[in-house]
Amino acid sequence: MSDCLFCKIRDGLIPAKVVYRDDVCLAFEDINPQAPTHVLFIPNKHIPTVNDISSEDRVLVGHLFTAAAKVAEERGHAGPGNGYRVVMNTHAHAGQTVFHIHLHLLAGRPLGWPPG
Ligand code: AMP
Repeated sequence: MSDCLFCKIRDGLIPAKVVYRDDVCLAFEDINPQAPTHVLFIPNKHIPTVNDISSEDRVLVGHLFTAAAKVAEERGHAGPGNGYRVVMNTHAHAGQTVFHIHLHLLAGRPLGWPPG
């Protein structure tokens, strides 16, 4: 059995506050939110890092972005007076702690740039 935390959440073996789900991806609330909105979008397919995304995953990766934009819009973050950030960390040096790719959606407060 997979030892991947996010595969276990995908399979319902570990609880999560699910925000959105379809046949390609799952979105759930981050357990340690860094902003009022902090949702993680994972593909159902296990892909460890951005480095492991192949050309056959192009539609899947685009799907994560459209799902994130949909949730951002539903939560009122998409208008020009608001804003949101989507980001994927790759490897420990960039802050990746779970090796199943996930798109962070962060919003609801001013987001500084560059990130730490
Ligand atoms: P990263 O550091 O980019 O790999 O992001 C991993 C994210 O997963 C972090 O923001 C964690 O807070 C979050 N996280 C870890 N465990 C859980 C969990 N059981 N449920 C929801 N989010 C989690």
